[in-house]
Amino acid sequence: MRKPLMAGNWKMHMTETEALDFVNQVKPLVKDVTDKTMLICPPFLAISKLKEALAGSNIALGAQNMHFEDKGAFTGEVSAPMLKAVGAEYVIIGHSERRQYFCETDEIVNKKLFAALNYGILPIICCGETLEQREKNETMKVIETQIKGGFGDLLTADLKGTFSDLVISDWSQITIAYEPVWAIGTGKTASPEQAQEVHAFIRGLLPKDVAQEVRILYGGSVKPDNVKELMAKPDIDGGLVGGASLKPESFAGLVKY
Ligand code: PEP
Repeated sequence: MRKPLMAGNWKMHMTETEALDFVNQVKPLVKDVTDKTMLICPPFLAISKLKEALAGSNIALGAQNMHFEDKGAFTGEVSAPMLKAVGAEYVIIGHSERRQYFCETDEIVNKKLFAALNYGILPIICCGETLEQREKNETMKVIETQIKGGFGDLLTADLKGTFSDLVISDWSQITIAYEPVWAIGTGKTASPEQAQEVHAFIRGLLPKDVAQEVRILYGGSVKPDNVKELMAKPDIDGGLVGGASLKPESFAGLVKY
């Protein structure tokens, strides 16, 4: 029902040349994969070249961030229409590193979500608790705040009444990524049970009509050797993967677990 999505978040890694080398090596390794959506989110500067290199392949292309305004005096930023123009199909929004180092709030996440939908770019909305929050038993409260804040109108909408079909169809465009901050880049993965508990909680927050359609990815030190047990859980629909997505063999291993 929900086609799994395996997404590589390259963060600030890879020049254009390195990105092209990666893609040329990975394409033959995954050419027969049809049961999963595969996605690479390189740095902005590599998107355009990778669009050409991935043309006709089974690997989709995305960005790691964007501004919510179309254009304007926002030095150093990139907008949704710019991403659309270079062929980005997905965009990661609200990654914990954006929240932690670039002061991204739920309100900003919400604006970016609507901007992405407006331009037909598929948003991957991230949420996740810190270690301190988990130890204080605040995980579900934090996740609920991030999801409700990030989704705003979409989440509280009476989908059968006041909102149009367009809003209902928006949900089929949306992916959520649960990424416990303590598991990102640390080598500590949430156990499949811990992840499933939060994924089920997130699904329970979504409007009933759409809850079963929305893909919820897990992120946090996913690797070829732990992906299978995570993917066996009913509410885990894929992975958002940093470190282990940077080597062609490892990316292929994540997809072909
Ligand atoms: C991420 O980049 O979102 C991530 C989960 O990183 P890593 O897989 O390296 O923990």
